[in-house]
Amino acid sequence: MYQLIQRLRSCVLSGPFSHSKTYRNIRFIQSGVEATTSSTAGRVIPCKAAVAWKAGKPLKIETVEVAPPQVNEVRIKVKYTSVCHTDLYFWNGKGQPAFPRILGHEGAGIVESVGEGVSDLKVGDHVLPVFTGECGECPHCKSEESNMCDLLKVNPGMTVMLNDGKSRFSINSIPINHFMNTSTFTEYTVVHSGCVVKINPQAPLDKVCILSCGITTGLGAALNVAKPKKCSSVAVFGLGAVGLAAAEGARIAGASRIIGVDMNAKKYEGAKKFGVTEFVNPKEHDKPVQQVIAEITNGGVDRSIECTGDVNAMVSAFECVREGWGVAVLCGVPSTGTFFQTSPFNMINERTLKGTAFGNYKPKTDLPSLVDMYMSKKLELDKFISHRVPFSDINKAFDYMVKGDGIRCIISMED
Ligand code: NAD
Ligand code: ZN
Ligand code: ZN
Repeated sequence: MYQLIQRLRSCVLSGPFSHSKTYRNIRFIQSGVEATTSSTAGRVIPCKAAVAWKAGKPLKIETVEVAPPQVNEVRIKVKYTSVCHTDLYFWNGKGQPAFPRILGHEGAGIVESVGEGVSDLKVGDHVLPVFTGECGECPHCKSEESNMCDLLKVNPGMTVMLNDGKSRFSINSIPINHFMNTSTFTEYTVVHSGCVVKINPQAPLDKVCILSCGITTGLGAALNVAKPKKCSSVAVFGLGAVGLAAAEGARIAGASRIIGVDMNAKKYEGAKKFGVTEFVNPKEHDKPVQQVIAEITNGGVDRSIECTGDVNAMVSAFECVREGWGVAVLCGVPSTGTFFQTSPFNMINERTLKGTAFGNYKPKTDLPSLVDMYMSKKLELDKFISHRVPFSDINKAFDYMVKGDGIRCIISMED
């Protein structure tokens, strides 16, 4: 069975942020599993959703029909969601355009119903939908070194459900595209069960929703990928939620010098709460920021983590690490079709360049324990939340991010 799925998938996928077509998924089907018990189970649910109709135009709250979950799918009542910069990229057309679309991939909710074959989730479970999934069976899911699940790894070009190549969202029979395996800017969404993580039901969904993308990515970029040593130096490029979580991860790992790099001077004051010890604004220097960092660190930082999506910042993040042992980790999602270049001598001189999706965490395996860390006060989330708006004001959350105002804005579906 695995070989069959693998053959189907290899026809269409090439990388974590690659385009793809769809194919039938038959792997998750199991017999004798209880179907659903909620009163809406099996029915189409009309609900409110924020639809992106055109690049860069405000989202429009529409009544959308959400079809029931099919084989290995889960329908979730979304309670809270937030805007990550990746939503902004796809909204403003820097990513592959696929309008009309329901964006959103940071969210938290409650399972409304499950499709045939779903055995690890049931109605009423508190869950985080995650843009990159975990089938549990492929070589990546079985390897402790990877979260690039062959079946469900992140693929923003995918606009339909894996099971039948169709959308579960429609308006007057016009299909509305899915986004990043999740589509959370809607009161109800349908997600593959491999992208749904069951969490502690005591956890406040209006806080832990931010763990379903940005914070986990930044933390993991530091703790799982960059792995700074105690008393080492780390440069973090971009002090949004991902970068601040990376700084927090570096602080937790014991880094003593954390240099925040951002074009927005307003970001520094707040970044101190996340362990950032000094600030470099590339706009204030007439030489490349990698040179500035090399000068202030006497040769370069031990680690750097890029969280901007800007290819020039990616090059700077790589070139600012120290020869011999420096490691740079890229998190940012670049505009479609962009490339960067750097001298191969940077590698020959023993600098290492890496990248990560979702901080190398496996969603189903690792996310529940991050939620538990928050519950036991070992992980702070509240300080990442700068704004709250009702769903009807979702465009304000986009405005905050466009203006670089605040960190994460929680959107409540109930207000
Ligand atoms: P954000 O908009 O909140 O923060 C980005 C920050 O980068 C801003 O403060 C901005 O001023 C700064 N910045 C932009 N260009 C810069 C440059 N050239 N030099 C220095 N600073 C610069 O965004 P976010 O939600 O924190 O996301 C950050 C990046 O991470 C985005 O590209 C997003 O798409 C990506 N992302 C990747 C993953 C992943 O799994 N790899 C997950 C989440 C987000
Ligand atoms: Zn994201
Ligand atoms: Zn897998």
